[in-house]
Amino acid sequence: MSTGFTERYRSALMNTFGAPKLVLTRGEGAHVWDEDGQEYVDLLGGIAVNALGHAHPAIVQAVTTQLSTLGHISNFFASAPQIALAEKLLAVVGTGGRDGRVFFTNSGTEANEAAFKLTRRTGRTHLVAMTGSFHGRTMGSLALTSKEAYRAPFEPLPGDVTFVPYGDVDALAAAVTDETAAIVIEPIQGEAGVVVAPEGFLAAARSIADEHGALLWLDEIQSGMGRTGQWLASAPSGVTPDIVTLAKGLGGGFPIGACVGLGRAATLFEPGNHGTTFGGNPVACAAGLAVIATIEEDGLLEHVTVLGQKLRDGLAADPRVAEVTGEGLLIGVVLTDERSAEVAAAALRAGFILNNATPTRVRLAPPLVLTGDDAEAFLQAWPAILEEAFS
Ligand SMILES: *Cc1c(COP(=O)(O)O)cnc(C)c1O
Repeated sequence: MSTGFTERYRSALMNTFGAPKLVLTRGEGAHVWDEDGQEYVDLLGGIAVNALGHAHPAIVQAVTTQLSTLGHISNFFASAPQIALAEKLLAVVGTGGRDGRVFFTNSGTEANEAAFKLTRRTGRTHLVAMTGSFHGRTMGSLALTSKEAYRAPFEPLPGDVTFVPYGDVDALAAAVTDETAAIVIEPIQGEAGVVVAPEGFLAAARSIADEHGALLWLDEIQSGMGRTGQWLASAPSGVTPDIVTLAKGLGGGFPIGACVGLGRAATLFEPGNHGTTFGGNPVACAAGLAVIATIEEDGLLEHVTVLGQKLRDGLAADPRVAEVTGEGLLIGVVLTDERSAEVAAAALRAGFILNNATPTRVRLAPPLVLTGDDAEAFLQAWPAILEEAFS
């Protein structure tokens, strides 16, 4: 990053993210360019956000058309894109013949705040969350996030939350009582470095929730909207949640989140219980509609499944890789040593953006439109990246 920008960034922005790696100026498809004109393949996709890559014509068209027609109206009024996106989301999430209703937000953490408040409408206050979880940085979502370093500076956090080891059915069964409002689970823990729930865990959580009259809330903010080659990462489990929270990929880069309530959770909110000024605005909803339509029209779920498998197989072939986790294009690479920061740095020097989620885990969450050629180029560069990082 040029010294001019470094200094200006440091003196104008709060230091919450540490020093930025680059100043980016332009993007197209899965590629971005920095201020020096250097090109990168973006294998992080704005942290699983840029589902259609950068500057996708369908999003550009949808957003500009909507913005020049009707941009913002407040939630005293309704708009066609908002209603259409809610209907579309219920269709892709699947209601299983039950009631389904959507509350739109502007971010993931706000979708979770809405869900958190929704669970209070059961008349119960106890929540059960998972170790390794990440649900966002606002106070309610942070109360459900297990990472001590994120929580400690802001305690006391709201709510009555019990954490159980991710994937531990017995611990979950022991923690949930008749006072439990909801169990909240990420089917794949993205921020933890792409840790996948063990086979049968979601089904067990469903039956434990049912046994105690608790809601099952799946946070699919990172794993949902086609990222795993399915609309929801939880879909193959056949488990039907009561609440699903979505954001990241939903707007393809335009900020939007959603709290989807199913069955009795669909109608727990009454007028006055919750609100938002920007949430569900016509422009954000137009972006969401464009993302879903493009995923459907371009057969991206199938593309993600095939390309994801190819990438995982290729990444796993190196002996410095202990394991490759994830589904579709949400991929975790577990290294044999704590070298993820070095791997991310070496990859960046080689022209690839990825993320060191934990000291041993590298995360890839590229645009769903990543091409086979870009994936191939990365796999070609992979051994040399590891060589540099491990030397
Ligand atoms: C990113 C993320 C969030 C928070 O979303 P923001 O838009 O950053 O507030 C919540 N849950 C999960 C699983 C996430 O990956």
